[in-house]
Amino acid sequence: MRQQKENRKSGSRAGRRAFVLAASLCVLSVLVAGIRQEGKEKQDGSDGSPAAEAGIASVEKTQIDPAGSFVEGNPVEAGIAAAPAGKEKPAKTELTDRPAGGKEPAKTELTDRPVGENELDKLMIPGTSVSAKEQKQRLLLVNKSHPVPEDYEVQMAEVEDGYLAAAQIRGALKRMLADGRKQVTDGGFMIVSAYRSRELQEELLQEEIRKNLWQGMPRRTAEWDALRTVAPAGCSEHETGLAVDIVSENDPELKESQEETAENRWLQENCWKYGFILRYPRDKEEVTGFAYEPWHFRYVGTYDAKRIAHEGVTLEEYLEAMQ
Ligand SMILES: [Zn+2]
Repeated sequence: MRQQKENRKSGSRAGRRAFVLAASLCVLSVLVAGIRQEGKEKQDGSDGSPAAEAGIASVEKTQIDPAGSFVEGNPVEAGIAAAPAGKEKPAKTELTDRPAGGKEPAKTELTDRPVGENELDKLMIPGTSVSAKEQKQRLLLVNKSHPVPEDYEVQMAEVEDGYLAAAQIRGALKRMLADGRKQVTDGGFMIVSAYRSRELQEELLQEEIRKNLWQGMPRRTAEWDALRTVAPAGCSEHETGLAVDIVSENDPELKESQEETAENRWLQENCWKYGFILRYPRDKEEVTGFAYEPWHFRYVGTYDAKRIAHEGVTLEEYLEAMQ
């Protein structure tokens, strides 16, 4: 019995041991599992593994997302903004550029560009791009019976060598000279007179009269002869700034032989392309009031210069026919 008891005791002792062992194992396994888990967590959180980065990234993504959705709105917003901006920009460009683009070629055609032979009938009517004032000045008749109007006003600009001319003819004159210099290479084009003040005109006339007197002419003859080539003050085209005297460097004298120079031949043939006319042609003294002056060129604009040249008329005759 006792043994049984003891057995029972021993039995119960063994059972207690088994329980303790089992419990220990259980605790141990829990501890091991805990340690393992802790190790794993430590590992995951500390080594910058992709998983960790992904976690951070996902956090960042999450954090960005609200902004992202805002940003996402931005492209949309930007898209909306960009679309009209994109549409408006060309429209704006078109609006600002079109009139300028429309005006510029017309202006070039009328004022500056040499006109080709075959463009006679394609020329634009003056006034579409040239101001009414400019056009009136271009065809202003100035001769001994038509003095420069008292209210005549024009802006002057230097052409070359200190010579001044009306600003509106500057471009055409420079182009004409530049082209002439390219095509007539054995000589040289030289401006010897452009804009003159009324005072200078008077001085020139008196100087011409003195020269004639010195040559032995009676005073009345000296004055009459001087007035053949020099206008009285107030009646010279040079006072308008629209006329220029150009000679050959090889023969700079203001005399009829000027027409024999290569430069003058080129000018007489081509000046109309740049808007200039030979103002005092040969055998037209009765009409113009001036002797033949192969060196004197007057700006009227390409439209009228072409017609005057092709019709072979003087400015007086041309203007009379227009009335
Ligand atoms: Zn002149």
